[in-house]
Amino acid sequence: MNIHEYQGKEVLKQYGVSVPEGKVAFTVDEAVEAAKSLGTSVVVVKAQIHAGGRGKAGGVKVAKNLDEVKAYASEILGKTLVTHQTGPEGKEVKRLLIEQGCDIKKEYYVGVVVDRGTGRVVLMASEEGGTEIEEVAAHSPEKIFKEVVDPAIGLQPFQAKRLAFNINIPKELVNKAASFMIALYTAFVDKDCSIAEINPLVVTGDGNVMALDAKLNFDSNALFRHPDIVALRDLEEEDEKEIEASKYDLSYIALDGNIGCMVNGAGLAMATMDIIKYYGGDPANFLDVGGGATKEKVTEAFKIILSDEQVKGIFVNIFGGIMRCDVIAEGVIAAAKELGLNRPLVVRLEGTNVEIGKKMLGESGLNIVAADSMADGAQKIVALVK
Ligand code: ADP
Ligand code: MG
Repeated sequence: MNIHEYQGKEVLKQYGVSVPEGKVAFTVDEAVEAAKSLGTSVVVVKAQIHAGGRGKAGGVKVAKNLDEVKAYASEILGKTLVTHQTGPEGKEVKRLLIEQGCDIKKEYYVGVVVDRGTGRVVLMASEEGGTEIEEVAAHSPEKIFKEVVDPAIGLQPFQAKRLAFNINIPKELVNKAASFMIALYTAFVDKDCSIAEINPLVVTGDGNVMALDAKLNFDSNALFRHPDIVALRDLEEEDEKEIEASKYDLSYIALDGNIGCMVNGAGLAMATMDIIKYYGGDPANFLDVGGGATKEKVTEAFKIILSDEQVKGIFVNIFGGIMRCDVIAEGVIAAAKELGLNRPLVVRLEGTNVEIGKKMLGESGLNIVAADSMADGAQKIVALVK
């Protein structure tokens, strides 16, 4: 789960991570009020959307007086920002962060992630802050330094200091930077984050080390123990189909292709996406209906796929182990009848009760193309949507 920058900064503040004073604003008037209450001459008006790259897209503006705050707030609120993380359709700005302007001496990057290679939490840092870390990784990987954390003892002060030295934090601020990193790491572990990225971390004119941006992502499997974080969820920032799917406990991720996929098991779902790609198609989603899905769950899953305008054809690929093929058939038929199936549907069923499932689909009167294997099904659906 994702949250906004201003929320991330509030969370980090609780752990002693230094951030500029700021307030959220939903209207232009609130933005001006917020700026007044901050009491600094320079404030920054920042678009709050669940995506980075706002600065380059015109979503971060420095205002030198209240008139400018008003002008920038009016300009940014309601605007659709297109950044490298929003996709071409962009995201509409509905909230602003009004924040104290900071006297930046230099920008750095610090990120905390779970590294699947080592199976550990890793801190990454670079003196190339402000820019996209992916670009630094591509063009000057030697400028990214890492510290792997032993989970039994946590991030050690010497590691944090080594990281600060490596990225050339001024000597007199190394201790402050190290404390910052330890606080960030503590927040990451405590709140079950999957990413905590500070880009930029800045050194200020008056000798402070601060987070000017904050991107926190949380492991959804751990949300049950963080009601305070769940309360920060902003459904308007999420894909409607994904919200609907989460209500039914379906693992669904919207993608930008045109072949809707209904599969059981994450491994088979991944393999299905791969094979569609292999035959020249593009999946519209990842969907794992799970092991013991009911007819209702299957029906909802199928409805979500059908509700996607981009979907030009559907590939149902089921290996019935615990999941029974007749239950899948029942769900597909119920959803197709309810919503009307107006797009090609290829079904490959294998496993428990496969004969019953096939018979039900065959007698349903729906226009279904049967497939003998995964490869056969993928080729058929790719051909049908072309
Ligand atoms: P994004 O990563 O989405 O572009 P950031 O929050 O990183 O958004 O802001 C972009 C840039 O704007 C920063 O790199 C920094 O130079 C500047 N900036 C952001 N917040 C402030 C602030 N409070 N004071 C001064 N400059 C800021
Ligand atoms: Mg940033």
